[in-house]
Amino acid sequence: MKRYLLIHYGEMALKGSNLDYFLKKLRLMIRDKLQKEFKIPFKIKHVLGRFLVPLEDGFDYGKVIQIVSRVCGISNFQFVYEGSSDLDKLGNEIWNNMEKHTDECKTFVVRVKRAQLMECSSCEAETRIGAILLEKGLNKKAKMKGADLEINVEIFNGKGYFSYKKFSGVCGMPSNSGSKLVCMISGGIDSPVAAYKMMRRGARVIFVHFSGYPYTDQAELEHVKEIVGILSGYQFDTKLYIVPFGKIQKTIATTLEIPAKLRVLLYRRMMLRIAERISLKNEAKGVVTGDSYGQVASQTGENIFAIHEVSKIPIYQPLIAYDKEEIIRVAEEIGTYEISKLPCKDTCSMFSPKKPEIRARVGAILDAEKFLEIDDMVENAFEEKEIVSY
Ligand code: ATP
Ligand code: MG
Repeated sequence: MKRYLLIHYGEMALKGSNLDYFLKKLRLMIRDKLQKEFKIPFKIKHVLGRFLVPLEDGFDYGKVIQIVSRVCGISNFQFVYEGSSDLDKLGNEIWNNMEKHTDECKTFVVRVKRAQLMECSSCEAETRIGAILLEKGLNKKAKMKGADLEINVEIFNGKGYFSYKKFSGVCGMPSNSGSKLVCMISGGIDSPVAAYKMMRRGARVIFVHFSGYPYTDQAELEHVKEIVGILSGYQFDTKLYIVPFGKIQKTIATTLEIPAKLRVLLYRRMMLRIAERISLKNEAKGVVTGDSYGQVASQTGENIFAIHEVSKIPIYQPLIAYDKEEIIRVAEEIGTYEISKLPCKDTCSMFSPKKPEIRARVGAILDAEKFLEIDDMVENAFEEKEIVSY
């Protein structure tokens, strides 16, 4: 029997007259990712609010799942058989293909969706197909909610498509349907999740990491590269800027006029200035950070205010009101947690004071910054960057 990957998209369906734009982006992403992996052409048809991708029986479904479950904009997908729209024939076809999919299930349910006129309602069709399967000898109990085996049937285009399992997608908007944003990524838990959250809204994320090397260990940089590798699965081409930051930190820490307790705030303001410089260069429209309000003692409203004061472009903080547990849950889902939790020295802790400021005042920070050649420091760091492509 003919097999297809059947894909449903979620929120995009609400886009009205702009839908075509979003569909084009989504189709491109699915095709690009599949072709990159399998090195063969894929045809993707759009039929009545879903995508159909022909796949041969025995295709490497495991790899397809890995790829498609990372494509933003998809709400769910399944590997369907193309059967008949005649319910009796369809019931038989579902029965005939059942064996290889259903061994360990004890309960079942049939769900029918239709996008064409039929002689009966979806509900009646479900009952009829269920009855055929039981007549044939299906040794499972029907269960409406929480059944082990969900037989999904979609009737459209004069065919009955069916599968025995539906996979969840990441939902959101298709990659690259929004503008570019620059994400400041550390080797920590939060910023990778922040980047993922913005990618899911369609932003094309360019990464920047400030490396304290040689003062920090090489491990942090290696973690970041690995994390960005994982995140690159969620969008088109990905770029990581690595900016050497150790010299800047050393300059700030050894300028005696600068109170020690302000150092970390000055580091973060320098990072933002450089991230903004990278945004300009790439025509990005804002900077993303993984800040979370009150997560650590220094993430106070006053400090966030004092840091952001330096930026002329919007700063996106998708995790600002998230609890750490919620962030960790997402990090586990997207596969970055295992790397982020590995111990390494992080750049911000380098040359950091014992008692950092928790109620910063912008005036005090501006006074301290008078002792620095800020424009030169930004420009030099930008010039020394290295770019890794994925
Ligand atoms: P994370 O888990 O993302 O490291 P955090 O809870 O450790 O965040 P901070 O160290 O205060 O919080 O950093 C806040 C944000 O600043 C980070 O989420 C990240 O966006 C950015 N940031 C911090 N250090 C770096 C760095 N070395 N390179 C790039 N961005 C950084
Ligand atoms: Mg951190």
